[in-house]
Parts: sequence; structure tokens; C-alpha cells
Amino acid sequence: MKILTILGARPQFIKSAAVSRAIRRHNEAHMGREIREVIVHTGQHFDANMSDVFFEQLDICPPNHNLGIANLGHGAMTGRMLEGIEVLIQQEKPDCVLVYGDTNSTLAGALAASKLQVPVAHVEAGLRSHNLAMPEEINRTLTDRISLILFCPTQAAVDNLRLEGYPFPQPGNRTQHIQNVGDVMYDVTLFYRDRVARSLSLDSWGVRDKEYALCTLHRAENTDDIRRLDTILSALRDISLETQVVFPIHPRTRNLLARQNYYHWLDGLMVVDPVPYLEMQRLEMGACAILTDSGGIQKEAYFHQVPCITLRDETEWEETVLLGWNQVVGANHDLILSAYHKLQTPSRGTEMPYGEGDAAIQIIKFIREIR
Ligand code: UDP
Repeated sequence: MKILTILGARPQFIKSAAVSRAIRRHNEAHMGREIREVIVHTGQHFDANMSDVFFEQLDICPPNHNLGIANLGHGAMTGRMLEGIEVLIQQEKPDCVLVYGDTNSTLAGALAASKLQVPVAHVEAGLRSHNLAMPEEINRTLTDRISLILFCPTQAAVDNLRLEGYPFPQPGNRTQHIQNVGDVMYDVTLFYRDRVARSLSLDSWGVRDKEYALCTLHRAENTDDIRRLDTILSALRDISLETQVVFPIHPRTRNLLARQNYYHWLDGLMVVDPVPYLEMQRLEMGACAILTDSGGIQKEAYFHQVPCITLRDETEWEETVLLGWNQVVGANHDLILSAYHKLQTPSRGTEMPYGEGDAAIQIIKFIREIR
């Protein structure tokens, strides 16, 4: 069978690494009943340190097609992706189109495939922030509605879908399949965690274990709202008076600050370029706290048992909050500071709401059975 995988953004490269590896393993074990994966890169993230380095480091085959679509507004970007992916589906004739997460590439891939009546499998289905002001919420909600297979990372995601009335009928007298397979990012973490701990040191950053905080910031709700950005960065500067703050800066945030002449808002922070995946895991493991608006990093903080402060008003990863490792504080200076001063480090949890680390294997198994 042939799977057409749509990728475009950094977290999607990381998630797809687990599934591509599972496909290779499957092919080694089932000679003659092979799965062919054709990778389409939409071009949404294109800088070498946001794209190429993940393909190299995580052993993902280079994309078969690159649409080179980037730096456009939501409408133009999604529209051009839709057009490009439709042509590729007609050329490649896949049995299934596999999309990840909640970006414009996800929605464009799902829309193109469903209009051509090619089954869509959505990895990270059912996540909800219940905030439709987020472009991600729009993308993931619409993608879920037109996917045949909904791969949920958590029970909460399954519950969200059930509350919304899922599963819905699909073309050809079919009904959507909802599967809680666990989180593919947990698969990736487990695969690399020991190697990272063994082989990477913090020396090259000049920081010491548990003596720095790590921060990332890139969500539109924070970067496009200059008041929120100002508040968050001022809280980070205050924290940096007590603890070093390492800040791998997302290109969107960097460009915005440069454009507005607000680069001095970063004074006192240890600003570095986006780091490759393995180095990022090392920085996460060594941090005394992680402050972030990233979805993936909230979970990774839990995987590495590092307290997290989420710089958003809500989270899709409510398990991290319920288990006591994540404080969701929004863009409020005092709440950020007070969360930092009462960092939560519950006794080491054994609960793992994100599966068993075999999400990718289950995804491949179900796609073969259901498509
Ligand atoms: N990440 C990375 N280098 C960085 C920042 C993030 O490798 O400089 C990784 C991070 O460890 C996680 C993923 O990128 O695996 C999260 O992606 P991002 O925060 O861009 O998106 P989100 O998860 O919010 O969709």
C-alpha cells in the first residue's frame, strides 16, 4: 500500500520520525507486503535549523516532493498547499493520506484528500483548546471532521470527540474510526532519551544542570499580540535576574521583534537560534523549569519530569496539569513570576497518559487494517 505523508512544520517532522521508522520496521519484517511512504513537504518551515536538521538527525527520508510554500498569510498559504497537494494525490494515487497535528499543512492535506475521496488518517486527533481564536484549533477541528481514522494521543482527546458527537459517517458507507494509540512524540522521546543523556553535555551552552530555565515562545496569540509579548518577555527578564534563561528563539518571534525594533526586550536572556531536536531534549532535561507556549514542549517537560509553566490561557495537554507538573498562567507577569517561585515538582509520577511508546506501530497496524 502507499501512504502519502504531509509535513510542513517542525513538530510534524519530529512526530513523523516515529511513524517513518515503524514503516521501515514493518517493511523489514514483511517482505512482499510493503508499505511505501511518499513524503510531501509543504515548505511551511524551510530554514535549515527548522527543517533539514530534523530530517538528518531523526533519520527521516528526504521529502519526495517539496512544494516550497512559505511566508504567506493563512489564506494564500492554505490555498496554495491545497492546490499543490491535490495534484500530487492525483499523481501518486495513495491508499491513504497521513496528516499530523494542527497546522495549515494538516488542513490542506486533509481537505485535498477528502475532496478526492482518499481516506485521511489524522495523528493527534481530538485535541481541543476550546479556543477558536487559535488557528491551530480551527485546523484540527476541521481536519478531524473529514478524516476517516482519528488517531488520538490521549483518553481526553477521545472524550472530546465523543462529546462532539463523533464518529461521523464518511463517504462509501463508512464510519470514522477513533483509536487512542498514545502520543507519537512519546515514542520519539523514548527512542532518543538515553542516547541524549549519555552523549550530550551542557558544556557547549555554558550552563549547569538545574541552574537555568528554558523558554520557547512562538504561538500567534503571544507573538501577534505585542502587549502579551511585552508582558511575557518582561517576566522572563525578571526571572533572568535570578536564574539564567536559555531562549531558543523561533524565527517568527525573532522577525517580529526585529521588525518592531523591540530586540532589547530580550536583554538579559541567553538567546540562541532554534536548536536541533537532540540538543533541545538535552536542554529540556537539564532545565530547572521550562516556560513555553509550545504544545510539544509541555509534554516533553513531563516526559523528562521537569516542571513546566505554560504561557497560554489554556492547554490541550490537561494531563500534565492534573498530574501537577504544569501550571497554565497565560501572559500575566505576576502569575508567571509566582508560578516560577512555587515550581511544582510532584514526587516522581509513574502515570503515563501518553501511551506505551508504541503509538507509531499501532498507527501503521490500524492504517493497514482500516484503509
Ligand atoms: N524543538 C526543537 N528545537 C527548538 C524548539 C523546539 O527541537 O529550538 C522541538 C521540541 O523539543 C518539540 C517540538 O520542537 O519536540 C515542538 O515544536 P514547536 O514548539 O515548534 O510546536 P508545537 O509543539 O507547539 O506545535
